[in-house]
Amino acid sequence: MKRWFARFMYGRYGGDSLNNLLIWISVGLLLLAYIPYLWPMSILAYGVLIYTIFRTLSRNIPRRRAEEAAYLRVRSRFAKKRALRKQIRRERKTHRYFKCPACHAMLRVPRGKGEIVVTCPRCGKKTDKKT
Ligand SMILES: [Zn+2]
Repeated sequence: MKRWFARFMYGRYGGDSLNNLLIWISVGLLLLAYIPYLWPMSILAYGVLIYTIFRTLSRNIPRRRAEEAAYLRVRSRFAKKRALRKQIRRERKTHRYFKCPACHAMLRVPRGKGEIVVTCPRCGKKTDKKT
């Protein structure tokens, strides 16, 4: 049985982190479907589950890898934003953060220096800021 399954899965994509996310989404949708009048969520949940099974059994590995890479890019973008928010919260008493008005880069200056001219390291724009 184990050997049969190994032979069956040979050349197929298998699992990845996008599949894990899709499984959790379908579990969440199935739980939502218990709420009255939200039963159509179960159709969506089974759709997501079928897509997950399709991805797992797919032989088009380059396509599945591209989907996984796109998902990981989006996930890392959110992780970076979350890390920055955490850093801003941690340093809120010693530093001020604000966006460059020209290029929207995040700038960090020490607090308590009064009126200062901040030069953006990315685009060179000078801005007056109160710290
Ligand atoms: Zn800038």
